[in-house]
Amino acid sequence: MGRSMSAAEATVAIVGAGPVGLTAALCLAMDGIDVVVLERLEEPSRDWRASTFHAPTLEIGLQLGIAGEMLRRGLVASRAQYRSRADGVLAEFDFSALSSETPYPFRLQLEQYKYVEILLERLQAFPNVSVEHGIAVDRVEQGRHGVTIHTAGGEARRATWLIAADGARSQVRKDLGLGFDGSTFEHRYLVLSLDYPLDTVLPDICEVNYIADPHEHLMLLRIPDLWRVVLSIPPGVSDESATSEEFIRERLAMIVGSDHDLPVSEVRIYALHERVADSLRVDRIMLAGDAAHVNSPMGGMGLNSGIHDAYDLAAQLFGVISGAEDEKCLEEWAQRRRTVATDEIQRISGQTTRDLAAEEEARISRFQEQMTAIAADPELARQWMLDNSMITNVRRYPLPSVASRWAIR
Ligand SMILES: Cc1cc2nc3c(=O)[nH]c(=O)nc-3n(C[C@H](O)[C@H](O)[C@H](O)COP(=O)(O)OP(=O)(O)OC[C@H]3O[C@@H](n4cnc5c(N)ncnc54)[C@H](O)[C@@H]3O)c2cc1C
Repeated sequence: MGRSMSAAEATVAIVGAGPVGLTAALCLAMDGIDVVVLERLEEPSRDWRASTFHAPTLEIGLQLGIAGEMLRRGLVASRAQYRSRADGVLAEFDFSALSSETPYPFRLQLEQYKYVEILLERLQAFPNVSVEHGIAVDRVEQGRHGVTIHTAGGEARRATWLIAADGARSQVRKDLGLGFDGSTFEHRYLVLSLDYPLDTVLPDICEVNYIADPHEHLMLLRIPDLWRVVLSIPPGVSDESATSEEFIRERLAMIVGSDHDLPVSEVRIYALHERVADSLRVDRIMLAGDAAHVNSPMGGMGLNSGIHDAYDLAAQLFGVISGAEDEKCLEEWAQRRRTVATDEIQRISGQTTRDLAAEEEARISRFQEQMTAIAADPELARQWMLDNSMITNVRRYPLPSVASRWAIR
């Protein structure tokens, strides 16, 4: 997918055309900066990964001129429930109560690959950006005035700045010798895609449902075309057993009873990690998104925070490149976004995961009572929704103000 601009030398090179790299590319494109994005895959990935977009991210989408398309292709989820198998709904949160706080008082369910498609379509309008698929970055080195990017094909590209958005296994991060400390959660998860309207069998569920239970915890998520069931795999059950037809049938029967034979269209297993890079900046190279930090997907915050990294970083880089700011703002960005990753995103997503995964009856009962009490109190419920929609986070660590530099274009 190469385009007209010569890619031999760019002001900014971005490694990785995932959702974070392409968000950074679009922000910089709108600033008029020349950008080259290098992506090792021949085609954009259609893997299932994130599917939740929170209000502050939709507000960024509005700035980027893509919010309308995101809403058109996604599914508005106004409510989220906490449930127990025995008692059904324990707590329900209606995000429309946040309508005075944001134009988007809901979670948007939209598959990550559709967000990437929307970005690629929008980038077509910018001749100053070249997105090149099928180019793997092997090694990077930096000097006083720029970065040299060595590709697996033996080419050397040059750029003044480099954004590493090359995912959790970031080659650039390894190349810089940065650690990625943290831990892996005990449970692995089995993700099933059901091509079936689950709400016809379980009529009182909503679009986002968390179920805490001493025997297994799970999530039921509606996305535009499907339902997703995310089940914890008990320790000791191998990947092979967990993906067997028998195991899947048994586990689905625990949810909907044995009368329903639900069509499963996709089965995947994944482990959850909580890690952060030692630093998000080394001179002319900045790490964003999963290259910089990973967290449990419970609550759907990982990708959102990566998009916030990219939006914030593009504003800082624009300041430096245009001469309005000195490089200190890049260091402040790196520290700010690392703090957000550990103190906000990992704190909330880690706590949710640990609460749901608790196995002692007393701890589960305490968590369930606590969620019921929060949902029953309008002020506590409002604060919970502000925290869990990432609005508290962006107020505590503000993103650049509405991009007036784009509004006056
Ligand atoms: C199974 C699963 C489920 C998830 N569910 C959720 C969820 O519900 N909610 C949530 O918020 N997050 C979730 N996440 C996390 C979310 O998907 C990530 O936060 C998001 O993908 C990060 O985007 P990114 O652009 O930083 O990295 P990626 O999406 O990983 O993109 C990195 C890109 O860089 C490319 N690349 C890598 N190395 C090189 C190289 N050397 N040269 C060139 N290109 C390279 C890759 O091919 C890829 O296209 C999930 C992740 C997984 C694995």
